Amino acid sequence: MTTLVKKQKRNVYDNVIRQFNKAADIIGLDDSISKILRSTNNEITVHFPVKMDDGRIEIFTGYRVQHNNTLGPYKGGLRFHPNVELNEVRALATWMTWKSAITDIPFGGSKGGIQIDPGKYSITELERITRRFTYALGNNIGPDYDIPAPDVNTNGQIMAWLLDTYLSTIPPQERQGNIHVVTGKPVESGGSLGRDKATGQGVVFCIQEWAKDNDFDLKGATYIVQGFGKVGSWAARLMKELGAKLVAVEDVTGAIANPDGIDADDLASYVKDLGGSAGYLHSEPINHVEFMQTHCDIFIPAALENQITAETAPYLNVKLVAEGANGPTDPDGDSILADRDIALIPDILCNSGGVIVSYFEWLQNKHSEYWELDEVDCKLKKKIVKAYSHVREVAEEYHTDWRTAAYIVALMRLEIVYKERGIFP
Ligand code: GLU
Repeated sequence: MTTLVKKQKRNVYDNVIRQFNKAADIIGLDDSISKILRSTNNEITVHFPVKMDDGRIEIFTGYRVQHNNTLGPYKGGLRFHPNVELNEVRALATWMTWKSAITDIPFGGSKGGIQIDPGKYSITELERITRRFTYALGNNIGPDYDIPAPDVNTNGQIMAWLLDTYLSTIPPQERQGNIHVVTGKPVESGGSLGRDKATGQGVVFCIQEWAKDNDFDLKGATYIVQGFGKVGSWAARLMKELGAKLVAVEDVTGAIANPDGIDADDLASYVKDLGGSAGYLHSEPINHVEFMQTHCDIFIPAALENQITAETAPYLNVKLVAEGANGPTDPDGDSILADRDIALIPDILCNSGGVIVSYFEWLQNKHSEYWELDEVDCKLKKKIVKAYSHVREVAEEYHTDWRTAAYIVALMRLEIVYKERGIFP
């Protein structure tokens, strides 16, 4: 597990720039537009005091980085994790801009977070931390300006506290009309059906498209998942519905395997109760390298950044990597996967289901509507499949890898808008 935690500390923003430069060179992206998109618009750092349960005051550091809002309001999650730092948030914010551009939703990109280990705080402390962070962000967020959502270690409950705090800061008459200030809310507080599973569902829709393209039968296919939080567990459960077999799982508590199959639903309830997959009865513990070396068809990384690198990419024995996490593969890892003919569905396409359904939630809130689950799923499928096909066409047209193709789709969309609107003054 040290590897999982240690490696992702590398500067992920360097990865973004390397990925960006490759795509920008291929399409000859206008130099001025390239300069704009290589930097972020706003970087907000706040230090704020919170009273702990025992009466002590602790100071926390939180960030919100707004990369670009050319296509619409800034949009992106908030994560609570000890590794949260400015470069990581910059990278995550930039990936959000590309995600919205690829999937054709009217949002820009942002991301935020607090550098904490949430496991060390009580529920009441987490509530106060969330509320105080929201208050510190003030009008740097807003329903038509910058819209947070869940990310690593944050959930609907945290979004509900954020909503409540934000609404308390505006006049009572305006509160109902502003509930779209945050997405990923619990359904009872104005969230959308299907938002909880949306990222995992999007990953699985992408895998199904890949299977169709490659005449590959998912029934009986084997897969492994890294990270068994919301994204990983939902992806695993939905793959089970298609008849695929989960053979290994790794999370912060360790790695487990069972060549005869792990029941994803049963493991999800175990993890929910015990906080991690370690000790799950119907499996054997394995180490990180053994996990990465598992022979199977599909690897779904759904944890943190920089997991597939020059060091670990040679370990993989899979046909496809479907990136549920943001930035799980670094550029060296990408080259090795390409050399080894391992297919890849890149994060900015593969995990875009979350922000797509966030967009649906935002629309429902704006129109005071509630959509049925079928409607949400059907619209999500349509959007993500369209984006998938677009990326595939561009990869073929430019004879390039899928990550670069996804960047090309995003950059071309942004380039058109910059050229139409021009740069003020
Ligand atoms: N945190 C998710 C992501 O990285 C969702 C963002 C959102 O819904 O705004 O895509």
